[in-house]
Amino acid sequence: NSRYAKVGDKNVWVEFTALARDYNAVNLGQGFPDYDSVKYLNEKALEVSKESNNLMHQYTRSPGHLRLANAIAKCYGSFLNREINPQNEVLVTVGAYGSLFNALSSFVSDGDEVIIIEPFYDCYAPMSAIAGAKCVFVPLRPKTENEVTTSADWVWDEKELESAFSSKTKLIVVNTPNNPLGKIYSREELQKIADLCIKHNTLCISDEVYEHITYDRAHTRIATLPGMWERTITVGSAGKAFSSTGAKLGWTIGPKELIRLCQIVHNNSIYCCPTFIQEVIARCFELEIARLGHDESYFKSISAELKPKRDRLAKLLIDAGLKPVIPEGGYFMLADISTIAKNFKTDETDFKDSKFVKYLIKEKGLATIPNTAFYSDEHKHVGENFIRFCFFKNETTLEKAAEILKNLH
Ligand code: PMP
Ligand code: GLN
Repeated sequence: NSRYAKVGDKNVWVEFTALARDYNAVNLGQGFPDYDSVKYLNEKALEVSKESNNLMHQYTRSPGHLRLANAIAKCYGSFLNREINPQNEVLVTVGAYGSLFNALSSFVSDGDEVIIIEPFYDCYAPMSAIAGAKCVFVPLRPKTENEVTTSADWVWDEKELESAFSSKTKLIVVNTPNNPLGKIYSREELQKIADLCIKHNTLCISDEVYEHITYDRAHTRIATLPGMWERTITVGSAGKAFSSTGAKLGWTIGPKELIRLCQIVHNNSIYCCPTFIQEVIARCFELEIARLGHDESYFKSISAELKPKRDRLAKLLIDAGLKPVIPEGGYFMLADISTIAKNFKTDETDFKDSKFVKYLIKEKGLATIPNTAFYSDEHKHVGENFIRFCFFKNETTLEKAAEILKNLH
């Protein structure tokens, strides 16, 4: 298929994860925790395997193992403040990637336009392109020149956002909290998007995989704004909700007409997700539902667990001369390399940030991710002065990273 050929085989996760491994680097690159953050995950897996139920090793219901669909409906019913029908308003997929792919493939067709806010999680653009869409990028820019900025300082220009919408716009992808920036969109910002979606009759894919990881601002769900449930699908992930990226389960929640479209792609490509892990994650959800809103809830404690790691990394970066953008949510932090990477220049073979990341891996033993991965081809130069750090790492890893950062110069 020439559309896939056009996307090409270059993929930031494939490339930089392999490089980090090859050089045995301290890995603050790809986003995953390197310790058991959820204490009961193994216990739940053991529980399911001990019950030795043959059904756990066979196909399950295509749109999602019923126990999991029920749990998701119940949990998100509470988050979205409405009754969710587990039969037709929930679809369990292969990671949030699966949700995004199903939605973009089924909502979009040739000639449609998809609005993506930059910097963006990298797969939105190729998935839209494969579906035949033209991507329209709306940039976020820092509004201050301060030494240390926060993700809240990164904003769009309202006129630019408005003019991105046209009669060809099929949908907008919103990612809050955002990867890589960590921005949590304010209610007012989301209301602006909602107003434009309603005015132009567009759909909204809301990627909320970092929904529980918030530090400085509460997470607002765009599907709860008036007139938005009907046109929004909300995407979540066990990789983030239960810090289990290897579970590779995601979910799509939305009105049945939209879920039905997503399901057509799912039925004919994946059919159903692995039963065993769906049963495990269903039990994890049930445990969390029982203590929703309480301090011991993982959905609540994860932010308290990560905030000291965020603050520690920010300090390390400042001391190393790498100006951080303090994230309001998620577990990534961008850092400005412009003063430290003066000798690295973008040329026709590679971008400045990518060259610097390779140098850090090969010469210093520290892996990060180049920020240009999160920009469209035409805007990569805008992102080339930043690299992304993941701080969801154990004390030993963070200590090793600290030693490297102290000796950068
Ligand atoms: N969206 C965002 C914003 C992400 O950071 C990721 C990676 N965790 C995904 C989607 C894909 O998630 P999953 O691993 O569940 O497929
Ligand atoms: N979402 C993860 C990150 O942003 C990586 C996903 C992947 O490796 N494909 O780091």
